[in-house]
Amino acid sequence: MLALLLARKGVPVLLLEAHKDFDREFRGDTIHPSVLEILDEIGLAEPLHKLRHVKVFGPTLRAANTSFNPIDFRRLKTKFPYIMLIPQTKFLEFLAGEASRYREFRLKMTANVESLIEEAGAVRGVRYLSTDGWHEVRATLTVGADGRFSKVRHLAGFEPIKTSPPMDILWFRLPHLPEDPEDEAGRVRGGFANGRMLAVFDRFDYWQVGYVFPKGTYQEVRAAGLESLRTSIVAIEPHFAKHVSSLTDWHQFSLLSVESSRCPRWYKPGLLLIGDAAHVMSPVGGVGINYAIQDATVASNMLASPLKAGHVGVSDLAKVQSDREWPTRIIQAVQSAVQTRIIANVLSSPNAAKIPTLVPLLFRIPWIRDIPARLIAFGVHRAHVAN
Ligand SMILES: Cc1cc2nc3c(=O)[nH]c(=O)nc-3n(C[C@H](O)[C@H](O)[C@H](O)COP(=O)(O)OP(=O)(O)OC[C@H]3O[C@@H](n4cnc5c(N)ncnc54)[C@H](O)[C@@H]3O)c2cc1C
Repeated sequence: MLALLLARKGVPVLLLEAHKDFDREFRGDTIHPSVLEILDEIGLAEPLHKLRHVKVFGPTLRAANTSFNPIDFRRLKTKFPYIMLIPQTKFLEFLAGEASRYREFRLKMTANVESLIEEAGAVRGVRYLSTDGWHEVRATLTVGADGRFSKVRHLAGFEPIKTSPPMDILWFRLPHLPEDPEDEAGRVRGGFANGRMLAVFDRFDYWQVGYVFPKGTYQEVRAAGLESLRTSIVAIEPHFAKHVSSLTDWHQFSLLSVESSRCPRWYKPGLLLIGDAAHVMSPVGGVGINYAIQDATVASNMLASPLKAGHVGVSDLAKVQSDREWPTRIIQAVQSAVQTRIIANVLSSPNAAKIPTLVPLLFRIPWIRDIPARLIAFGVHRAHVAN
C-alpha cells in the first residue's frame, strides 16, 4: 500500500517480497471502512468492489442460550458501512496490479531481505537473496513492512515490548456444504462453550475457523485427541456437526501463538518500520490490516515530499511515529482489556456457556453498539490520503 501511494506521487519505489506469490498462509481477509475510504480517495474502491467479496454488516456472537449482533456497521456515517471480506491474496494482487500502472513502481518477488547496508550511522539500503543470487539495493529510505516476525526490525536492533494475550489459536478450514447458510449474519461469527471460543469466516469455497484456547495448553488440546476437538467445535457451532468429519489429521491445523507488541521506536536514520513490524496487533477486533494500511497512508502523506527532495530526516520519520503511535497504543489497550476481562474469563471457566441476559439488551442501545463498531471500523484516528 505504501509502495502504491508513493509511486502514485511520483516517488520511485522498489518493493521486495520474500514469497514467490501472494498466496500466503491465512492472515485475515477483512477490509475495514477506513481502508475502503482510503482506497476510495485514490479511486480504487470501485474496482475493488468488482472482485468477488462479501459484505459483513455485523458479526454474530453465539452462545448456548442466545445469539446476537453486538456490532452494527450500518449506523456508521461512511460510504462503506460494512467490512468487506476478500481473500488477502486477491487484495494484495489487486494492490500490486494497480501500483504497477505507475512507472515509479517496481516489484521483485522471491526477494528475501537478509541484511541492511549501514554507513555513517544511517541505513542506506538492503541486501537480499533471490533465486539468481545476492543483490544490493541502495535507497534514500528503507521501510520495514515485513510483518510480525520482521527481519528488518531485528536487523535494526529494535526490541518490541511484548504482551502475551491469554490465548492461542488453532486455524483450520472446514468445507462448505450445500446446506450452509448464505445469509450475511453467518459470514463472520463467533461463539464460545466449555472454555473454548470459535471465530468463523466465510471464504466462499470453505470456512476459515479459529479455535481459541488458553495460552500454552496446545499439548493438552492435542493429547485430548481429534475426536475431543471435533466435539468441542460442535458444542460451540452445532451447525458444523457434519463439517468436522473432514478434520482427520493434525497437519490440517496451524497454531498461532497470539501475541501483541509495540516497538518503542519505529525509526532510525534511513529506516522506518510500519504495520506489524512496528506493532503486532492482537486478533481482537481484527484490526491489524486496518492499522497497517493507515500507517502506510500517513507515511506516504508525510514522506513523499522529503523523498522527492532526496533527503528524509529523522524528524520526518519521527512525525510518522508520533501520528500513528497513540492510536495504536489506545487500541492495544482496548484489546488488552477485552482479553483480560472477557476472553480470559471465558477461557478459564469451562462451565461458561451463556451470555449474561443483560449483555444483548445492553447492545440494543444504539450508542453502545456504535462504540465497538466505530473502533473496529476506523480505529481512534482516521487516516486520509493527502493529495
Ligand atoms: C492467523 C491470523 C489472522 C489474522 N486475522 C486478521 C483479520 O481478520 N483482520 C485483520 O485486520 N488482521 C488480521 N491479522 C493481522 C494481519 O494479518 C496483520 O496485522 C497485517 O497483515 C499486517 O500487515 P503488514 O503489511 O504489516 O504485514 P504482513 O501482512 O505480515 O506482510 C509482511 C510481508 O513481508 C514479507 N516479508 C517478511 N519477511 C521478509 C523479508 N525478509 N524480505 C522480504 N519480504 C519479507 C512477507 O512475506 C509478507 O508478505 C491476522 C493475523 C494472523 C497471523
